[in-house]
Amino acid sequence: MNSYIGTNGTFELMRNLNLEKIYRLILLHQPVSRAQLSKLSGLNKMTVTNCIDFLLEKGIVQELGVTGTRGRPATMLSINRDSGVLVGIEMNIPSIRVIVTNLDGTILENIILPDTGPEPEAFVQQISEIISMLKEKYKDRTLGLIGAGIAFSGHYNQQTGVIELMSNRQTWNHFPIRDELQKCNLGVPIFIQSAMQASAMGEIHFGKANPDEYVVCITGTWGINASMYSNGTLINGYQGFAGRFGHTIIQLNGKQCMCGNKGCLEEYASIRALCNKLYPDQPKPQKYIDEILERVKHKEPVVMAAIHEMLEYLEIGIVNMINAFNPTRVCIGGYLGLIINDSMLQELKADIAKMLPEHYCRHLDICCSSLGELGVAYGGIAIVRDKLISILSDAESEE
Ligand SMILES: [Zn+2]
Repeated sequence: MNSYIGTNGTFELMRNLNLEKIYRLILLHQPVSRAQLSKLSGLNKMTVTNCIDFLLEKGIVQELGVTGTRGRPATMLSINRDSGVLVGIEMNIPSIRVIVTNLDGTILENIILPDTGPEPEAFVQQISEIISMLKEKYKDRTLGLIGAGIAFSGHYNQQTGVIELMSNRQTWNHFPIRDELQKCNLGVPIFIQSAMQASAMGEIHFGKANPDEYVVCITGTWGINASMYSNGTLINGYQGFAGRFGHTIIQLNGKQCMCGNKGCLEEYASIRALCNKLYPDQPKPQKYIDEILERVKHKEPVVMAAIHEMLEYLEIGIVNMINAFNPTRVCIGGYLGLIINDSMLQELKADIAKMLPEHYCRHLDICCSSLGELGVAYGGIAIVRDKLISILSDAESEE
């Protein structure tokens, strides 16, 4: 049984679990019939019918018409992609990315907002305004704006709702972001995650990974994070900072990292390290990312040599990660995934294979994300889509 879909239960006690299971099976297998859903879920036909009736009534699912040439024709079902919209927000420096999508992940808006500066209250104000604007804009859809998922580049504590640590913006440390957003009374469910955890959800819902895989998503936007997923859930760790992959130390007494340690992987294998190498002593090296991508297309020797060196370090990091986590898929996303072209990826895979016992690689695929620089924002979208049933249940119990 696919653990992502969950377990069975009696209808009375487990209504939401069953609904969630059917909803997720439709996401994975659409177009799909009620009989197929019964088979896939292990739930009886009556329970499936009850779940589908609820999902049809809410507008989440639609009937596509009758199909089947042999035996009894069946009505096929799919997610009603236009029933509502989802918002994904990536807070990064130097900009904030906001995407709005249908339920199937089709982009409706892709907005880049300027950085709101050192005061976190300004960010809350900005986000509150944009969510209010989007809520109004999409109010005519059956479910309207369903929810927003916000991902931060720092360490966010799920239990307390506080940003514990943001290395590149210390003024945000200990900021109670969840409470502050709640005070805005937006009337929209908001889910907050660390960027490192969000990216795996984005990849599973909208990218190349499957929910039944053991996935490591390496996101290289400016630093490097790793998001780990297995048995249907994200691995967050006790305090929620699992995946600080960029701060694994790969060099004794190596380069000084902004985390305070020396020799962190980020100082050798990140976009930040690459920009610093190609544009030394520039005050804002991040503005050269697009230029580097362009130079890669033209295979400029200086750039290719710098990337080659960067990838040698990244390979070591990935091998360490594989040895620690034993994934079936490693997905490289963010700008790092955009910079690595097909031939670089083949080389990286071959080098990694040389560093691992042969049978470790038999059930392992290494790929670059198809979501590019939107991977983390898609993670925000995925978290809301994943919570859709509980959002509707909460709304029902408030009525
Ligand atoms: Zn570090």
